Amino acid sequence: LVARMRGFGETIFAEMTRLAAETDAINLGQGFPDTDGPRSLLAGAARRIEQGVNQYPPGPGRPELRAAVAADRSARYGLEYDPDTEVYVTVGATAGITAAVLGLVEPGDEVVVFEPMYDSYPAAIAMAGGVRRAVTLRPDPSDEGGRFAFDPDELRAAVGPRTRAVIVNSPHNPTGTVLTEAELGVIAEVCREHDVIAITDEVYEHLTFDGVAHVPLASLPGMRERTLAVSSAGKTFSVTGWKTGWVMGPRPLVDAVRTVNQFLTFTANAALQLAVADALRDEADWVRAQRDALQRKRDRLSAGLRAAGFRVLRPQGTYFVMADIRPLGLSEGVDLARSLPRTAGVAAVPAQVFYDRPDEGRHLVRFAFCKRDEVLDEAVARLAALA
Ligand code: PMP
Ligand code: GLN
Repeated sequence: LVARMRGFGETIFAEMTRLAAETDAINLGQGFPDTDGPRSLLAGAARRIEQGVNQYPPGPGRPELRAAVAADRSARYGLEYDPDTEVYVTVGATAGITAAVLGLVEPGDEVVVFEPMYDSYPAAIAMAGGVRRAVTLRPDPSDEGGRFAFDPDELRAAVGPRTRAVIVNSPHNPTGTVLTEAELGVIAEVCREHDVIAITDEVYEHLTFDGVAHVPLASLPGMRERTLAVSSAGKTFSVTGWKTGWVMGPRPLVDAVRTVNQFLTFTANAALQLAVADALRDEADWVRAQRDALQRKRDRLSAGLRAAGFRVLRPQGTYFVMADIRPLGLSEGVDLARSLPRTAGVAAVPAQVFYDRPDEGRHLVRFAFCKRDEVLDEAVARLAALA
């Protein structure tokens, strides 16, 4: 293995999912729903396969999906993208992010990321030979829900002459923070001032709670021209295995993704793209109902975790809730996550693996709540034995 990829090993999701399977534990580690997306979406894909949509789609993606993505982005956020040149379909958001970093970051360029960070960002930066600079999100002591936020001065200090890009994930995995317009404004100001590109990971854009709205960074002044936005169907429609994503941005940024992606995956799938295009147009009600159901699941699992003795930090979006283990008299989340499947029959993910700074996040464990109520209840019952 090349030196720059040493240390990445096996992803924490693979490790915890394997451990859950070995111990027959309830898997609240890896974030994937245990019920599938809308019937029409599943049937639409099956129908397309039966009808013979089984060969390579065009490199940039099926025009139907690119048009649906552009129409959706316009309708929800007032952001206009040319479906032919400014939207490009990728194998999930993951390939979009990796292709963006490989296509835009030179060896030695710095990339600012917010930690805890989704694990594919540091790997993509390493593949490109870039250098990451982490800005830490921490629970705001003045917020009773313990919302994670960043210190604007820490962001400003992380950006310098070698900074090429900042990766912004909102709604944020694993903290559940949905960045406010003011917070995005700070990021935008820094990007404009230092001529930095933003890569925005918006895969949870629909999954926000308590009336909190997702605001795309590209909608802020001066940002559309320097932002590559990434999203995907997996979370929106509960089909994480479909690996159908897209990037949206000004042509030079999308061209960079296209150039790399041609040789990374060549194209994405064919039939699923058509089904996703239909769902983006027709399934807004399903998505809203799913969001509301997830909010109730957040509350259900959070109440159970509290009863089991954890301090719960309230997420505003995503599939995940962060729990502080110190009230249980514990301090190392990695140790707890490794032992929990055997001791309690529940798998979770230690937050520490998402941080660069070794002193951050040690006492936090991430639980996924995108599961059926009876599964959450059983997990909570098992965890109650800990208290
Ligand atoms: N970004 C974040 C923040 C995620 O949580 C995930 C995991 N689902 C992805 C990207 C990957 O999305 P996809 O499956 O579309 O590649
Ligand atoms: N995004 C999901 C999570 O954060 C799973 C992704 C993965 O397994 N790579 O749990």
